[in-house]
Amino acid sequence: MLAVRARALFDGVGPGLVERPTVLIENGRIAAVSPGGVPLIGTEVLDLGTATLLPGFIDTHTHLAFDASDDVIGRLTEADDATLLERVRAAARASLAAGVTTVRDLGDRGYLTLRLRAETAQDPAAGPHIIASGPPLTTSRGHCWFLGGQAEGVAGVRAAVRERAERGADVVKVMVTGGDLTPGSDPYSVQYDRDELRAIVDEAHRHGLPVTAHAHAVTGIREAVTTGFDTIEHCFFLTESGVDFDRRVIEEMVRRGVTASLTLGALPGGPPPPPHIARRIPALVAGLATLREAGVTMALGSDSGIFPIKAHGSYPYGITAMTDFGFTPAQALRAATSTAAVVCGVGGRKGRIAAGYDADLIAVGGDPLADVGVVREVVAVVRSGRRVV
Ligand SMILES: [Zn+2]
Repeated sequence: MLAVRARALFDGVGPGLVERPTVLIENGRIAAVSPGGVPLIGTEVLDLGTATLLPGFIDTHTHLAFDASDDVIGRLTEADDATLLERVRAAARASLAAGVTTVRDLGDRGYLTLRLRAETAQDPAAGPHIIASGPPLTTSRGHCWFLGGQAEGVAGVRAAVRERAERGADVVKVMVTGGDLTPGSDPYSVQYDRDELRAIVDEAHRHGLPVTAHAHAVTGIREAVTTGFDTIEHCFFLTESGVDFDRRVIEEMVRRGVTASLTLGALPGGPPPPPHIARRIPALVAGLATLREAGVTMALGSDSGIFPIKAHGSYPYGITAMTDFGFTPAQALRAATSTAAVVCGVGGRKGRIAAGYDADLIAVGGDPLADVGVVREVVAVVRSGRRVV
């Protein structure tokens, strides 16, 4: 039995903090959460003083195989699997050090993250709990084709989904539109036709797997929502000239329970956003408020690995970025914990500090509801009941 004490605790739901909590941990699970001092005879105590406890962060969207260099495609393409697996391991450790105790990897090559998943299940210090898609499905020379997930035609995409189910993937990721990262790919165009998208969803659900869509653009979001996808990655409703938070698509998301995995945040010190992004920001803030008011479930992912300013371990900057995009600190913290757990399909065991949940918790050096920036000062990480940072 381990007892963790601190000045305060955010349980993943809120709205407020629990003062002077004691979290009792046994066999990797939270046994009880008590406010105030409780007698702890014979119990090992981890006293974190003036820190605030939070559930470990859950990154809904990462690319452990991308090295956040200036040339992620080149670096990935020239690396053999052994080299790439070493980078995947390092990325996982960097995420854990930043307080991320669960990651959903949506950009694998060669199912390497499934190997890491086994490693971190054995050793909590080796990295976060891993939820993995394997290589994302994409069209021939489509977005991120170099990850090896090219599949086309109804029979082709069904076979690709079956392969992922047989390999033990936790989720199916589909590049529904093109993306900026891939030369020759158009982020505003849908890559698959409706029959292919419906076949992917049907085959994934037949195998009990959720299916998530890469879609920045409203064109792709509309197709993914109406063909039955469970989650939309990015989900910024972009058009070539601006944004279009289409009310009918939003209503359909709510009606069908389609969730959003927003990818926000970057390390400071990078170049300012290019003009075509910067001028969309006011409309994005308004559009995200529309999603929130409509009741769309929104969680936070980092998209870490894709650029130098999206280094592994940058996840806390997404939480502070959410508050720049109109979310309250409590909403941002929920998006990073309990809601992220729901979006990743682990809402029954992760993302909250409550009895029965996995003992994944972190401590930050202050009150994150008063000053959300303290999420960048992670002073302790407990994963599966073991202190790893
Ligand atoms: Zn991504």
